[in-house]
Amino acid sequence: MTSTYITTTIPYVNGRPHLGHALELVQADVLARYRRSTGERVRFQAGTDDNSLKNVLAAEAAGVGVQEFVDASAAAFTGLAEPLNLSFDDFIRTSSDARHRAGVERLWQACAASGDLYRRHYEGLYCIGCEQFYTTAELTDGRCSDHGTVPDLVSEENWFFRLSRYAGQLRALITGGTIRIEPAERRNEVLALIDGGLEDFSVSRSTERARGWGIPVPGDPGQVIYVWWDALGNYLTALDYADGGENLTRWWTGASRRIHLLGKGVLRFHAVYWPAILLSAGEAVPTDIAVHGYLTENGRKISKSSGVTVDLYDLAGNYGTDAVRWWLLREVPWGADADFTIDRLVSRANGELANGVGNLVNRVVTMIHRYRGGHVPATTSSAPDAAALDGAIRNAPGLIAEALEDFDFRRATEAVWQIADQANRYVNHTRPWDLAKAGDLAELDAVLSALLLACQAIGTHLAPFLPEAAARITRQCAASETRLLPSPAPLLPRIAISA
Ligand SMILES: [Zn+2]
Repeated sequence: MTSTYITTTIPYVNGRPHLGHALELVQADVLARYRRSTGERVRFQAGTDDNSLKNVLAAEAAGVGVQEFVDASAAAFTGLAEPLNLSFDDFIRTSSDARHRAGVERLWQACAASGDLYRRHYEGLYCIGCEQFYTTAELTDGRCSDHGTVPDLVSEENWFFRLSRYAGQLRALITGGTIRIEPAERRNEVLALIDGGLEDFSVSRSTERARGWGIPVPGDPGQVIYVWWDALGNYLTALDYADGGENLTRWWTGASRRIHLLGKGVLRFHAVYWPAILLSAGEAVPTDIAVHGYLTENGRKISKSSGVTVDLYDLAGNYGTDAVRWWLLREVPWGADADFTIDRLVSRANGELANGVGNLVNRVVTMIHRYRGGHVPATTSSAPDAAALDGAIRNAPGLIAEALEDFDFRRATEAVWQIADQANRYVNHTRPWDLAKAGDLAELDAVLSALLLACQAIGTHLAPFLPEAAARITRQCAASETRLLPSPAPLLPRIAISA
């Protein structure tokens, strides 16, 4: 049996989770649920990066201890499992999980054993927001182009990782398809980075500059391991990398796919630094690096300072998990940016979920109750004019599989939506109420039977995307032993913009 490992990035927890986190988590959840449904063994992992210096600064601003602060903030992330209906198998927290520190230390030692870690005096401009050094040329008027802040001038002796040694190998792995980077423009971006020359990068900082927070460099307690090294390591440490146990074999070394989902802003770390660290440590590299774009809200960048960030708990509470997941999957183009508004969320949910899918299932079950006493019609004749509807049902599994292989969630949900759309057209075209009135029972049964099959197919294929709605649809369309359907109940009610 094939095993697939699916991870999200681990966000630093200096604030509440926002819609951008939800996008990545829901995308990963869909991949995990879908692959499980095909019989694969799947491990879906999320977590939080507790060791970032940004957490320290946020804790100081809040006037609480760092551990206390990250514990409270991380809880808001783990808690997303409920409002977003996430099925992660594991959630790693880098400050408190015993597996993590031991694993990071082993990873460090493996790279040291390869001769890829060395000490060097370094002076550079460090943006705390990015947790990254910049050259003057990379700044805009002396400021970080992401954060608009003037980076700190840092001068100290640090540990460096010999990244330069891996440029050729990385390039070959990416061009040869061993490491697949999607979409293609991100792959080209990484190749351009490599071709531009890879310089060794600093992988530690003084304990003083880290304010004593983080994992000390093994054998050099005056230095703390660079937060990116620490954070990237979570993909291995959560698999008990420290002891090299069964989880590591099953989910990393022996997995058929090792899929990392991430946002475009951390591409360099995942597609260059991380595979190079793995090569140095003698471990397998990821098979898939899937890169999503950024969301804005009402045209504005999502950030704490802009004050426009919607609260995910409120959003799911007000509009429902199904509506939130549907918007993220249905409207955000793969790899590109998208703008979120409440209006778009509501109109998408009402247009497709309430009026499209919900109304369809309700109509079909209601007609079966009204005309056939609630009993699933036993029919031998084929339904008239049903080619387009049959096609939508027949094609859905292949289209969904293909689209999800490309990480194209819009195309995947479109295949499910097509069944509902064709089924609604079919109701209007065949007019079962006229068949009932005319007493044409053979044709009525054939039509109702085709429509019920369509509703059942929607319940099946919708499951990875909207598990809750899919379960309600499946229950509504499942006949008892006496072929009786449950009475029709509203499955996907219309929603209204809440004040
Ligand atoms: Zn920055």
